[in-house]
Amino acid sequence: MARLNAHLGKRQLKALQEKLEEDSSRIKENFLLKKREYSESRVEHKDDVDAANDTILITTNMRFTNREANYLKKIIKALAKFETDEYGVCEDCGDQISFERLMARPTSEMCIVCKEEAEMEEKHSIHHKQSSSMGRTLSLR
Ligand SMILES: [Zn+2]
Repeated sequence: MARLNAHLGKRQLKALQEKLEEDSSRIKENFLLKKREYSESRVEHKDDVDAANDTILITTNMRFTNREANYLKKIIKALAKFETDEYGVCEDCGDQISFERLMARPTSEMCIVCKEEAEMEEKHSIHHKQSSSMGRTLSLR
């Protein structure tokens, strides 16, 4: 049986997998670094001003860390798909995602058509909500 992602050559898959693994270890290193920075700053600072600065630093770090954590989750999910040959296959329509698109964004889960449709729907649903509530107001009269 042919692989689901047969459009990707073995060497292409390998390149993408390495890219994902590199990203994942970079993020993990960042995490450790931030954790160390955080514990060091707690020991160093004693007065209130420094404590306040600390809070700002931690909040900024947390926001950054959350984004990184989400990306890491995506990477782990993508890497798991290599095992099942589902990597590079659109989650929505099962179409093949091009190598170029995957190289640009190795965590892509959808083909470009589905991605654009999903983004369009997101915009439309806001519109839709507004117009449907307007329709309700009209029918009440
Ligand atoms: Zn698709």
